[in-house]
Amino acid sequence: MQLIPIPSEPVTCGNLISGHWTAGNGAAIEITSPYNGSVVGHTHAADGNDVKKAVAGATEGFAAWSAKPLKERCQIMFRFRDLLLRDKQSIAERISLENGKTVAESVAGLMKGVEVLEYALSLQNMDSGGRMEVSRGVFCEYRRQPLGVVLGITPFNFPAMVPMWMIPIALTLGNAFIWKPSEKTPLTAVLLADLLTEAGLPAGAMTVVQGGRETVEALLDHEDIKAAGFVGSTAVARQVYRRGCANGKRVLALGGAKNHIVLLPDADPAMAAVGISDSFTGCAGQRCMAASVLLAVGDVDAVIEKIVARAESQTLGTSMGALISAEQVAFLQNAVDEAVAAGAVLLSGHNYREPQAVDPAYANGFWFPPVILDRVPADARAAREELFGPILSIVRCRTFSEAMAVENANPYGNAASIFTNNGAMGERLAKEAKAGMVGINIGIPVPREPFSFGGINISKFGHGDITGATSLDFWSDLKKVTVKWQMQTDHNWMS
Ligand code: NAD
Repeated sequence: MQLIPIPSEPVTCGNLISGHWTAGNGAAIEITSPYNGSVVGHTHAADGNDVKKAVAGATEGFAAWSAKPLKERCQIMFRFRDLLLRDKQSIAERISLENGKTVAESVAGLMKGVEVLEYALSLQNMDSGGRMEVSRGVFCEYRRQPLGVVLGITPFNFPAMVPMWMIPIALTLGNAFIWKPSEKTPLTAVLLADLLTEAGLPAGAMTVVQGGRETVEALLDHEDIKAAGFVGSTAVARQVYRRGCANGKRVLALGGAKNHIVLLPDADPAMAAVGISDSFTGCAGQRCMAASVLLAVGDVDAVIEKIVARAESQTLGTSMGALISAEQVAFLQNAVDEAVAAGAVLLSGHNYREPQAVDPAYANGFWFPPVILDRVPADARAAREELFGPILSIVRCRTFSEAMAVENANPYGNAASIFTNNGAMGERLAKEAKAGMVGINIGIPVPREPFSFGGINISKFGHGDITGATSLDFWSDLKKVTVKWQMQTDHNWMS
């Protein structure tokens, strides 16, 4: 069993304001471990007053932090990286405790966050702005300026990685960052924030506020917050985008997904089976990049058999983690029932309606096995809507064009992939798929730094991506400075 021991005493966490952890004055929140359903943590949401104090503390923190030159800020962020690596295992165990994924998955997510941090650290050597003599004796230059106090609102499914898409870049650029973690996974935030303090970040440069909708709304309504990054479901992303923009903020809000993989008969069977199976079962399907619909073109039954065999070989509690809540387990059971009623055929042998057998110590956890549904009608809910679990809906298609019609009819636009040995078909998918991230023989096409992360359509509201080059412009302003020290003697129309 690779699961972690559940601590006997629940952890209590609060809000980090002006460098001190204090209890919030809003509603009480219980944190439940998906491994066994027990309460492993307590916190209180930040109420309106707490939010005001948090923003005031961040405003003071901004003054001290932004006064440091970029190179000095990078030294502190370098130390943060060292500390993350030092505490990798304990952070991963904390992530798994409150999120339910395997420890190996938690380590992988954290390390992906460290890659973004390394990208941010490279800014000191690469983003030196630009300066040019635009007319005789007249110089123009760009200066990248931090915005001030900025906000990041993050989901439960990657308690460290998704926040690390925003925190290193926003902080390195000199902003003071307010982090509102998911109320389902607030415990990891405490570890990361404490490591930033240990690395030497001044008080108030990092603020943590706990809570859900009400806390987010109070933050979005606060006029001293200049920008908000959000990652979560499409419904909430849309609301956050609208409210933040209505309040004059810069907002980038990443939403949910319904990702398609096209499987062609010429695909390498072993590569396709592993790529597709691991894509929908990894992190128990709770990934915005997870395969959700397999568009099976022509006769690909031999590959589908391999996908089923690999999915059935997953062991809950060892190679596969748990879902976030009992409600999500019930939601997925109903979604599968509904798909079967709509004509889908169950391919995998697990009984998804029965409690799943794991170690007795974790028997009350939120376990759900991989489920593969074949011949799902393209208009059935399982083929159209985000379910967020280890369910693969196979839609049979006669041609590639038919497969693309299904993919492109979907309103989401996070990821799309193809498995084929035909380069021309790979290129067609890259060109025609309405998705922000495309994979060719890759099941989870997450770009690695310096390439940026972000979808299109209703998978993202706002301009640019959450990482990479465009994220620099999101978390900063470019000031244009024009300088002249001497009178020009040779006047022309440009001078
Ligand atoms: P969620 O939308 O329920 O919550 C996200 C954040 O918003 C949390 O911090 C939560 O406290 C807050 N929130 C919830 N309801 C709110 C409301 N009404 N008003 C304001 N704030 C509110 O998402 P989740 O369930 O935590 O995460 C899963 C979702 O996130 C999935 O849809 C998944 O696809 C998506 N996701 C997307 C990406 C991406 O890059 N596009 C990455 C990870 C997760």
